[in-house]
Amino acid sequence: MGAKPTVPIRRLRHLLESFLVAWNDSVNSNRKAKRASRRAAGLCVECGAQAGGFSYCDGCRKKRAVYEHANKAMFKRLRKNSTDKIKRQAILHYGDRCSCCEEAEMDFLTLDHVNNDGAEHRRETGKQGSNFYRWLIKNHFPDDYELRVLCFNCNNGRRVAGGVCPHKRGAPCPRSSTTRR
Ligand SMILES: [Zn+2]
Ligand SMILES: [Zn+2]
Ligand SMILES: [Zn+2]
Repeated sequence: MGAKPTVPIRRLRHLLESFLVAWNDSVNSNRKAKRASRRAAGLCVECGAQAGGFSYCDGCRKKRAVYEHANKAMFKRLRKNSTDKIKRQAILHYGDRCSCCEEAEMDFLTLDHVNNDGAEHRRETGKQGSNFYRWLIKNHFPDDYELRVLCFNCNNGRRVAGGVCPHKRGAPCPRSSTTRR
């Protein structure tokens, strides 16, 4: 007979879509809250089993490893995005370029211990790499160790040349007179 629908199909589709979006959001935020409370209780964030101090229990860790292995590229990208963000936030607290040669490409930048006490600092915090950046942010950038931004070249050059960047050996470094002490 073909009775005319009272609600146009397009409207229905729109309703369905907005319902799915809202549902997805609420599932995500529930999931987040559940994972946070499990984490706080020292349980597996995935299934709530005892996790012995880890984020995931043995079973979930294995499942995750298999899944990660099958989706390697995606996980690599996700990890890089998140470590890039952390690094950027930490570096920008100290400056936006190498304090020796003014290199400004974030991928070339690192934090340098002005007083050569990086090893001691690493020992004290037990952190290095992106975990060190994370630690700095979490601890509101404590200033008991003096840090500055250097590029990998200047950082390495300083180490190889016994504490002074080779830039500063011959011609004066572009910013040597304004380098923070
Ligand atoms: Zn689990
Ligand atoms: Zn540099
Ligand atoms: Zn330099």
